Amino acid sequence: MNTEILNPSKETYEKCALVIKEGGLVAFPTETVYGLGANALNGAAVKKIYEAKGRPQDNPIIVHVAERGEISDYAEISQIAKKLMEAFMPGPITLVLKRSGRICPEVSYGLDTVGIRIPLNPIARDFIKECRLPIAAPSANSSTRPSPTEAAHVLEDLGGKIPYIIDGGRCQIGIESTVVDATGNTPVILRLGKITPGMIRSVCGDVRISFEQPDKPASPGTKYIHYTPACECALIDSHEPKFIEQVVRAEVEKGRKVSLLCFSQFEMEGASVYLLGNDNFEAASNLFYLLRLAEKNSDIIFIEAAMGRGEFADSLLNRMIKSAGGNVITEP
Ligand code: AMP
Ligand code: MG
Repeated sequence: MNTEILNPSKETYEKCALVIKEGGLVAFPTETVYGLGANALNGAAVKKIYEAKGRPQDNPIIVHVAERGEISDYAEISQIAKKLMEAFMPGPITLVLKRSGRICPEVSYGLDTVGIRIPLNPIARDFIKECRLPIAAPSANSSTRPSPTEAAHVLEDLGGKIPYIIDGGRCQIGIESTVVDATGNTPVILRLGKITPGMIRSVCGDVRISFEQPDKPASPGTKYIHYTPACECALIDSHEPKFIEQVVRAEVEKGRKVSLLCFSQFEMEGASVYLLGNDNFEAASNLFYLLRLAEKNSDIIFIEAAMGRGEFADSLLNRMIKSAGGNVITEP
């Protein structure tokens, strides 16, 4: 199959909506990362997502809709959900709700819940509106690879497997949505993201964070390896220039090709240095892009940890630690 990258336009949305209606897959941009969409009412179509990505079948897929009013067609809206919908939808948040109605079971194998999100990106919304269907869409990467934040990343992973990628340029946020279980009386964060615990607490009065338990995760997807580049990767949990330099130099001296993703312009002889950005928000929008760039010419990539702790810093740090496969270097 030939994969075409299309600029957003009415004609593009019509062409892509036809593919979705016929049970095919289309990749589209959102404000978080690119999504790989299929008709969420069609089990055979949703199965194609798992196949194209090499995704484990017990990792549920988020359903995307264009308007708040559509959510009650597919899920039960709790009191907590109502508050979160009003405050944060459309936006980078996914609500896990009790499923009702017609969403196919393949979207969340074995679960009586469904994750629902309304993207803020107008290209995503216009495309979904044109489909007139709920769109099941995980990130449009091969399973375990860094999430795609440009159309070229989708082509890299899924080229030849899908007919169309809608090109919306670079994703603004760059990390996936905050996933919140809104089925109970207290919202429980299952995956950290742009919408932080503090923001949720300010709307609901309370919030809990589900710490990842590898044997029995509340959000099945969190137990899998995620976001790893094609080479070795480690997180440096320090902002001390001397320490960072020492860690990088030790690898350069072994004759290895070394890259460093960091928050300041280091001069590092023998290593490639990439600027993550001036703050955590810029760093989030660049992280996966830089991992995919640096891996092409590296034996090992070092990532400088997010600046500070708490709130959005923790969301970014979560992706950095996963990208590093849990390899964290601290100062002695
Ligand atoms: P991705 O599609 O790659 O952004 O991953 C989707 C994330 O949402 C995974 O971590 C899933 O485990 C989580 N998720 C989706 N639906 C549900 C659900 N019904 N219950 C719990 N977690 C969910
Ligand atoms: Mg993903």
